[in-house]
Amino acid sequence: MAAINTEGVILRKYLLRETSYILVIYTRDYGKIRAVFKGVRRPYPQFAGDLEIFTHCDISFYPKKQKDLDLITESRAKNSFVGARKDIERLTYANYIIELIDTVTGEHDRNEVLFELLTGGLELLGSDIPPKSAVRIFELKLLDALGLGPELGECVSCTSEINDAKCLDVPEGGVVCEVCSGTTAISHTVSQGTVNFFKKIRSVPISKAAGIKLGGSMEKEAERVLGDFVRFHVSDNIKSLEFARDLERKGIIR
Ligand SMILES: [Zn+2]
Repeated sequence: MAAINTEGVILRKYLLRETSYILVIYTRDYGKIRAVFKGVRRPYPQFAGDLEIFTHCDISFYPKKQKDLDLITESRAKNSFVGARKDIERLTYANYIIELIDTVTGEHDRNEVLFELLTGGLELLGSDIPPKSAVRIFELKLLDALGLGPELGECVSCTSEINDAKCLDVPEGGVVCEVCSGTTAISHTVSQGTVNFFKKIRSVPISKAAGIKLGGSMEKEAERVLGDFVRFHVSDNIKSLEFARDLERKGIIR
């Protein structure tokens, strides 16, 4: 059987004996793969940089049957997302992006939309926009891609149209009108400005989202809402997000 050629982003890397790695890679054509790459640590250390976490590579691999690992025969870095590695804040959020993709994907489950979001999110994080704006854009795009994004136009309880949002309920999945907000336990107050920010994100692909900036109170509001959406609808055990919060509390990142 011939080797399969595709491209992917390295999500995780483990040492295997003296000379090899086990890599978990999210590929464009085969979803997540778990593969062994033999003999790359010595005597060819020049490959080391090509195999860093969240490097985008062209790879060749042989898929293995059942529970065995796939076998990588070649890997060549095409984008290291240098901009996303330039400070601790971006690096922390890059790990968050990686962990989210790792959490929501199964092995050999192809999803090109998620692949584009992964590379687009890392690219955006390395661009000139504030890292937190990049992360919020990624979170919403990811939630939408999974069919879990918030309803923003209609009350999730009575479906009446909402043009001046004040409340958002995370478990119910979106904005709530003032009448219904009196009868249910609302998880968040939200401003129409933040809702409009979310709508703006939805209106452009991630590759065109670098012009979207978020400031002031909306930044905090969007962070709370989307963070809670991720925790409630995706996973409440995203370690890199807790790590980011810890760095914030210590004043190491903003
Ligand atoms: Zn309502």
